[in-house]
Amino acid sequence: MYGAGDVRVENVPDARLVEPTDVLLRVTRACICGSDLWPYTQMAHTDAGRRMGHEFIGIVEDAGADVRTVKRGDLVVAPFAWSDGTCVFCREGLQTSCLHGGFWGGTDLDGGQGEAVRVPQADGTLVLLPVGEDDALMPSLLTLSDVMGTGHHAARAARVGPGKTAAVVGDGAVGLCAVIAARRLGAERVILLGRHADRIALARDFGATDVVGERGEEAVERVRELTGGLGAHSVLECVGHDLSMTTALGIVRAGGAVGRVGLPQHEQIPTTSATFFANVTISGGPAPARAYIEELLPDVLEGRIEPGRVFDRTGSLDDVPDGYRAMNDREAIKVMVTP
Ligand SMILES: [Zn+2]
Repeated sequence: MYGAGDVRVENVPDARLVEPTDVLLRVTRACICGSDLWPYTQMAHTDAGRRMGHEFIGIVEDAGADVRTVKRGDLVVAPFAWSDGTCVFCREGLQTSCLHGGFWGGTDLDGGQGEAVRVPQADGTLVLLPVGEDDALMPSLLTLSDVMGTGHHAARAARVGPGKTAAVVGDGAVGLCAVIAARRLGAERVILLGRHADRIALARDFGATDVVGERGEEAVERVRELTGGLGAHSVLECVGHDLSMTTALGIVRAGGAVGRVGLPQHEQIPTTSATFFANVTISGGPAPARAYIEELLPDVLEGRIEPGRVFDRTGSLDDVPDGYRAMNDREAIKVMVTP
């Protein structure tokens, strides 16, 4: 990406092993993320460009001498951050704060929207998938890179639990996965705040019990009506806008929690006074997707959850620029890429 609206498919130097802890991965599935749309709409032009893509599955083509957990020919999924798996934060399950990790793409590391990726800290980062590279489960497995783990993180941060009412703000792929996650953790009622008919239909399939199409103050009033005036125990903020955060804080019940996973596009969290007096917990951040893969993988493999249904378009690498456009125009929920 060279700037807002400027995505190009170009040849770059081949990915290769640099450190003995690296793996060279041939990408078999990748995708475009809702968070990629922030730079797609806002990024200032750069001459160097920025490698894109942080969700991918691939085949190990080569492994450095110190790699122990995967070998040539293995099919693996990569979370959206790479991590060593051994530092104090990784051991606490917070791999996005790894002392020796980082994020894909940018200017000096490969992105997932490409043919191949150099994977640093491969032992800590990659997770083996016990299926073939064209398995029918591939879309759902690919969501473990980011959106399903991020939806799960929102649910955890919002303290979803059995019998509780959860409200999900946002009907993008993460919001839809958050509906799955809230139901999976036992929420009795899941209210989706969203406005797109195709996404609402999918959310209902995923277990949303109520849908609120209003925005802003009207949305707050509607959720309050649905919850006997009290608000939701757990609010999963899956957008990152000022308005969505204000809405999230407006619909949370006293003593409840807001789990925020939308990349914040604002510098401040609004309504500190109201949330203070209501004892509202505000939590969340980038999901430690790596920590959640082992927990969520059996549910995907055994068909209990189908987060892969968020993909409604598939294309080649050459289709990636149009995929950004389609997602930005809300023509597609999420685009899968088969290099
Ligand atoms: Zn670490």
